[in-house]
Amino acid sequence: MTNHKVTQNTRTLSRILLVVIVAMPLVLLVSSLRTLRELEEQKTVYLRSRVAILAGRLENLPAGAGETAVFEALSAEEPSLADLEVIGRESAAAGHPALQAIWEGRELYRMETVSSPDGPLFRAWVPFHSRAGLCVARIDLDAHAADFLVVHARHNVIAASLGSLAVVLLALYSLWAARQAARLRLRQLEMEHLAHIGKMAAVLAHEIRNPLGTIKGFAQLARERAGAAEQALLNPILDETRRLENLVNDLLLYGRPPAPSLRLAQWEETRAPLEAHAREMIGARDVRFRADPAALAWETDPHLLRQALLNLLRNAVEAAGETPGGEVRLELRREPKHGLTVAVADNGPGIPDSTAARLFEPFFTTKAFGTGLGLPITRRLVQSLGGELTLHAAVPRGTEALLRFPNAKPR
Ligand code: ADP
Ligand code: MG
Repeated sequence: MTNHKVTQNTRTLSRILLVVIVAMPLVLLVSSLRTLRELEEQKTVYLRSRVAILAGRLENLPAGAGETAVFEALSAEEPSLADLEVIGRESAAAGHPALQAIWEGRELYRMETVSSPDGPLFRAWVPFHSRAGLCVARIDLDAHAADFLVVHARHNVIAASLGSLAVVLLALYSLWAARQAARLRLRQLEMEHLAHIGKMAAVLAHEIRNPLGTIKGFAQLARERAGAAEQALLNPILDETRRLENLVNDLLLYGRPPAPSLRLAQWEETRAPLEAHAREMIGARDVRFRADPAALAWETDPHLLRQALLNLLRNAVEAAGETPGGEVRLELRREPKHGLTVAVADNGPGIPDSTAARLFEPFFTTKAFGTGLGLPITRRLVQSLGGELTLHAAVPRGTEALLRFPNAKPR
């Protein structure tokens, strides 16, 4: 299986895990809440049944019992009985018009929940037969009497929810940690791989450099002594040796970590020679170059900085040369709070997204004669100087390479 496929599978698996981790406790919570709601409904059923029992007792009370005696008899049976009122026919007609329905037999019971200073009451109007004829009793039960049905369940739901939350957080953390570890491992493998390539490249470059010098030297000598016809034959040899020389230099630079020696250096020490180099690189190309002087100095290694900027200028000139009316700018900017930024901008074709992700990969190039080492080397050089290198799209077109030195203290 390819690396890509393994990564893809791992990603799919962790996505499924994520869904399960989040969905399971959610399902659990929803079903617990439903159970709780059903239990709440059971509370009313329970209170109704208590009322029905009390109503039965009312029928069987001895004749002539006063309201206080009735209350005492019933509260011995039902401790949650809060209040009781027996209403005869006359008072029902006068003060309780709502009970008319019960008198007329249109309604059997009437029940409601009312609030009182002592808490919510479950109130029931219940008709019963006494010696005096048909009466209605108002029975008030403490509504909390049915709470025992749900208290336990409520506690269970809270405990289960907290437990699930803890499990979800733990699972998410483990997933994140596992991903982080995988990413680190991948990065480490990449670094090891690059270190190997770097070492190999340096050895190879070293071995090639001497013979290459000999070839170049003799080819130059031969060209000086040759006639016009032979010179034309020797020119390609010299061009190609120059190209190989560039590659060998890049490989050596890439294989050797930069060792900066910092000192207070004027920007002009870097800018002036770069301007000369840039004009030489541009040669006959239709490219305008601009690099305004700036009287600034800061702690850096001007030699390494020049090397880094030369690579970026080479890319910029090559890009700007692709379109008519090309422009390349080299700028030094002082940041508002502290630090410096050096910018190399061109108005070339810009960098497509597919290329952008691979810019700093060693040996990645889109050019026929590129080495693909310019940007990786440059990034390392800039980092060794305490800076950061990034490439952005420029407006309206082209590319801008930014070298940020956040800790530079310009004078
Ligand atoms: P090389 O120049 O040898 O190809 P680099 O590492 O310098 O290697 O650049 C890698 C790739 O990045 C180039 O091949 C090119 O596709 C792209 N690139 C770099 N700078 C620019 C730029 N200024 N404009 C457009 N593309 C660029
Ligand atoms: Mg380059």
